[in-house]
Order: sequence, then C-alpha cells, then structure tokens
Amino acid sequence: AGLVKHYPLSAAWFGRARGQVRAVDGVSFAIGEGETLGLVGESGCGKSTVGKAVLKLIEPSAGSIRLNGEDITALKPAAMVAHRRRMQVIFQDPYSSLNPRMTAGNIVAEPLINFGIGNRAEQQERVAALFGRVGLRPDQRDNYPHEFSGGQRQRLGIARALALGPSLIIGDEPVSALDVSVQAQVINLMMDLQEEYRLSYLFIAHDLGVVEHISHRVAVMYLGKIVEVAPRAALFEAPRHPYTEALLAAVPVSHPRQRRRRLVLKGDVPSPINPPSGCRFHTRCPIAVERCRSEEPLLVADTDGHAAACHLREPAR
Ligand code: SF4
Ligand code: MG
Repeated sequence: AGLVKHYPLSAAWFGRARGQVRAVDGVSFAIGEGETLGLVGESGCGKSTVGKAVLKLIEPSAGSIRLNGEDITALKPAAMVAHRRRMQVIFQDPYSSLNPRMTAGNIVAEPLINFGIGNRAEQQERVAALFGRVGLRPDQRDNYPHEFSGGQRQRLGIARALALGPSLIIGDEPVSALDVSVQAQVINLMMDLQEEYRLSYLFIAHDLGVVEHISHRVAVMYLGKIVEVAPRAALFEAPRHPYTEALLAAVPVSHPRQRRRRLVLKGDVPSPINPPSGCRFHTRCPIAVERCRSEEPLLVADTDGHAAACHLREPAR
C-alpha cells in the first residue's frame, strides 16, 4: 500500500457483488503508469468481475480501489464523473458494444459530447485525429458499425476509449473474438498507444498466449482468487503454481528452448459459489497432498515480486 502513490491504480477487492453469482474473494493488485497487467483465467473465474469492480460498475462488499492514489471506492456517482474520464473500457465484442444506428464518427464523438468537451468543430477535429491514430481513414467516420470488419470495429472501440484521454484502460477480452492475425495488429496498436500516452492497461483474457506479448506482469486467477502474479518472463519461464503450468501447457511454445511439461488437469472447474476447502485447486491439482484439502495457501512473494499460492512451491528463503 506504500507504493500506491506511484500507481494510477491499485485495487484490493473482497466479497461478493450484489446480483453476482460468482464470488471474488480477495483480489489485490496494483498497476503502474504505462504498465500492463494481464489477468488470465478460465471463464467464470471472476476476472471480468474484477474489471467491473475497478470500473465501479458493481460494488465490492469490502476492500478498496485507488486511482492515482485517491480512494475511489466510496465515491458517489456524481463524484465519480471526473474519474470516469480516466478509466475506460474496451469490450470483447465491439459489435454489440457499438450502437448500430450511430455513425462511426458519432460513436467516437459521443464521450466528448457527454462530457461537454469542446465545441462541435473541435470535437470533429479530435475525432478525425483519433481515427488516424488507430489506423482508420477519416472518411470512414460516416460509416456505420456493420460496414467495418471485426478488427476495424475494435479500432473504433479503442478510438472511443481514447477520446477522453484516460490513464487506465480495462480491456475485457478485447481481442478474443478476433482472428489470430488481427489479434496481433490490435495488440500492437494498443502497445504503441500505451507508449505514446503512458496508458495503464488491465488486460483480461482466458488465454495466456494472448497476454504474453502485451503484459509487463501477469496475474492468474482460479475460482475468484489470484493464484500467481509475476513479471512476464518469470511467469512464462519459471511458473510456480501448478495451475499456471497447466495453462501454459496449452500455449504454443514460441521459443525453441522453452520446453513445457505436459500437464493435464483432471475434472471440471468446481462451482465458484461453493469452492473446495483448503486450496481451491486441490480437486484438480496433479501434485496435491493431504494438507491441501484443509489448509489454504497464502500468496507468498519472493524478492523479485513473483508470488504464488501453493504449499509445495513456496520461495526458497
Ligand atoms: Fe496443488 Fe496443494 Fe499447491 Fe494447491 S497448495 S496448488 S493443491 S500442491
Ligand atoms: Mg468474462
């Protein structure tokens, strides 16, 4: 928490949101300026819930969310307005998140209009600049979402997210619906924009392969908890949690020297409503021991900031 001052975002989030079936049980992380935290886990693990909590679309029952050092957890909607500008979201399916009856230009201009930023001419100028910045042609401003390809629609979503000059962008599976070649283009665009604007990203995905290129650090979630968080290289080259190893076994190896153990999980993901006792992963863990059924492992970090929650993989002291 002492580091909070230097971070645009830190979130410690506990509890079950009203109306949410899925519990998130104590997730805490910080994202630095210009940094990407990849958040990975199978569907239903709670990663989107974490994204929504950060955006304050749902209320946590305990914990806190800080943006640029300021605690925004308890802010009322009116006080949140200023913060809304600084936090934007990009969704998985740009088609369903873009109004089909609005022109692309108006979709990108809408946040500026809603926040009363600039006059009509200034807004148009800003929109044209944003189109250029995300690789769309200015004359495409008059087109409707259905006239764009999937990748172009995601560029449109990014332009809209950028309109207000945010410091944090939450991408909730922003490339999961795109073809692999288009995924790479959108990820490269996001990385260029990050460098240019010092953006922080919370990049949510169900696949470790997708976050490898863009993330500075990666957090892995299982049944509502972060089980491992580490700088990218450490996570991919020397994972400590058996669940991370299993996820990595499914990722094609990009480097010939990286050899990965084949690790296949048994059984299905248990219900997050009534998670297993002890280590939540014990019902599927290939190396579980008796202690794992009753004793919950803590997320223990080594000196390099590589943390994992596993009784058998504690860092050497
Ligand atoms: Fe597996 Fe036990 Fe480690 Fe959980 S604590 S990941 S069950 S070995
Ligand atoms: Mg989701």
